[in-house]
Amino acid sequence: FKLNINDLLTLKNLGSGNSGTVSKILHIPTQKIMAKKVIPIDSETVIQAQIIRELRILHECRSPYIIEFYGAFINNNNTIVICMEYCNCGSLDKILSLSPNGQFPLPILKKLAFSILSGLSYLYTTHKIIHRDIKPSNVLMSHKGEFKLCDFGVSRELNNSIAMADTFVGTSTYMSPERIQGLTYGVKSDVWSMGLMLIELASGKPVWYEDTKSTGPEGILDLLQRIVNETPPSLTNKVNPITKTAYDPSLCQFIDFCLIKDDNVRKSPSELLDDTEGFLKGTIEGLFDKDVKVWAKGIRKLLKDKSENDK
Ligand code: ATP
Ligand code: MG
Repeated sequence: FKLNINDLLTLKNLGSGNSGTVSKILHIPTQKIMAKKVIPIDSETVIQAQIIRELRILHECRSPYIIEFYGAFINNNNTIVICMEYCNCGSLDKILSLSPNGQFPLPILKKLAFSILSGLSYLYTTHKIIHRDIKPSNVLMSHKGEFKLCDFGVSRELNNSIAMADTFVGTSTYMSPERIQGLTYGVKSDVWSMGLMLIELASGKPVWYEDTKSTGPEGILDLLQRIVNETPPSLTNKVNPITKTAYDPSLCQFIDFCLIKDDNVRKSPSELLDDTEGFLKGTIEGLFDKDVKVWAKGIRKLLKDKSENDK
């Protein structure tokens, strides 16, 4: 079906980031709940049309680990509207802030890592797509406890149009050393970002937290410099501040593999999935699916209570 702005009823605002604003909507003709992302683009009409063409590949991305794409169109000559599957537990950054202890339990991390790698491996092997923006706000959870990727870079023109507004838009602390250095980067760059994300979710603290408080271009440049030069972050030999115990050794080892600075040595998503005896043991058989389902139910309830309180 063809999407049209008049058919979309906005239900609530879900948040906004560097590129645009996301809301929960109802597509009236089909009565389908969707998420709508509105990205202001004041470039020429030809560029806008090019962006819509480039986004069309998303129609072919079908995987349980990828947010489904319903369509995109230009509105009012100055915004790109993207409609996609709505995930009712939201993104991992918000879920983390609600989680008991402020941390993700081990079985959840296992299923999450497996899902991200499966999504990345699908995008790369089937469509030669690199995600380029793996971070907690771009991984969503459904009420059934499924994890799905969104906001991956398929449109060169869209990336250019957004980046033009501000040099530091699109610069993130989840970026791999090779990417920060402006070298050629590939799908292993997403593995680095996932490694950082796992540290954040396991410990409850973003890796570069202290640093991101110092804002401004100088602070950011300084930080990027450190990511390139310092030994990579790790949970090995660290004590969990909540439980006062060491982190699971197989989790620590897995993260250390993801955060190998040399991308020639770092493994790709499919290579990491091939190791079925380490941290990911049991994930392909769905061993932790039930744990995640129960946990997602709890999160769903916390989200509901929160939105009641917000009213
Ligand atoms: P950035 O612009 O750097 O990507 P971001 O990911 O936080 O930052 P958006 O992509 O605009 O910003 O998303 C805003 C918020 O909307 C997210 O944090 C997420 O919680 C929510 N969101 C996005 N897509 C969906 C979706 N399909 N279903 C439910 N919630 C979503
Ligand atoms: Mg996003």
